[in-house]
Amino acid sequence: MSQEITHPTIKDGWFREISDTMWPGQAMTLRVEKVLHHEKSKYQDVLIFKSTDYGNVLVLDNAIQVTERDEFSYQEMIAHLGLNSHPNPKKVLVIGGGDGGVLREIVKHESVEEAWLCDIDEAVIRLSKQYLPEMAASYSHPKVKTHIGDGFQFLRDYQNTFDVIITDSSDPEGPAETLFQKPYFELLSSALTEKGVITTQGESIWLHLPIIKELKKACSEVFPTVEYAYTTIPTYPSGQIGFMVCSKDGSVDVKKPLRQKSDEEEAKLYKYYNKKIHEAAFVLPTWAAKELEL
Ligand code: SAM
Repeated sequence: MSQEITHPTIKDGWFREISDTMWPGQAMTLRVEKVLHHEKSKYQDVLIFKSTDYGNVLVLDNAIQVTERDEFSYQEMIAHLGLNSHPNPKKVLVIGGGDGGVLREIVKHESVEEAWLCDIDEAVIRLSKQYLPEMAASYSHPKVKTHIGDGFQFLRDYQNTFDVIITDSSDPEGPAETLFQKPYFELLSSALTEKGVITTQGESIWLHLPIIKELKKACSEVFPTVEYAYTTIPTYPSGQIGFMVCSKDGSVDVKKPLRQKSDEEEAKLYKYYNKKIHEAAFVLPTWAAKELEL
């Protein structure tokens, strides 16, 4: 008989996402139907379980990364806010994003000729192919190229190469720490082509305004156009997560999509993203807008 897999975050059939530093005093819990896999990779603790109501769930270092039920909100927004802020994205890079969901969104754009991904951890890619097939199917798309390595190191080898770079990282504790700092944004800027655009995971206004403020400051020292947008998503802490959307073109208004599809086409391609939500995503509640004024 096979041994049931146990994990310290799972008690009485519930996974509990507790972090005293990132979200003190609160926790997201999901009911576990079955633990599918657990391993300690070279970089992080990787847990995959089947939940009773959110499908399969990927957890890295005890933090939920994706659930099959709500991942489209995050993946579509981080991808299309950036891609639709560039006039003609042909070569696109994802840093992190090992589950493959952002790649799936990028290849929906007809202009895209190459979609590259650089994730530090082969385990995330390998296990996503096995347990998150709807996201990881993108790895077999002919436009996709995959590289295993640290995003920071990877970028050093590329200048004036990518039209859009999307940083789909984990939180700034652990291997993604450097991906939230100014030297990283300088590397992104030099790896981008002239009108290059970035979007990067930008944390929650309910929990991380000081981090977002620092992030915005670091981006503003490198990019002439910097805006914070957000999406709603039940399984990220506080149900809300943001993105920093930046452009090397100081005259572009990233709050309005540069290319628009008809409502019918949008409904065929996307479950969350549309041209109205693109604009709405940049509208912040009064207190958060004030805090993020530089
Ligand atoms: N959307 C998720 C979220 O916000 O929670 C992030 C998902 S994605 C799976 C995060 C990925 O970033 C992981 O696969 C992890 O291996 C990768 N990662 C972390 N640090 C990295 C680094 N320095 N370079 C490249 N990839 C990194």
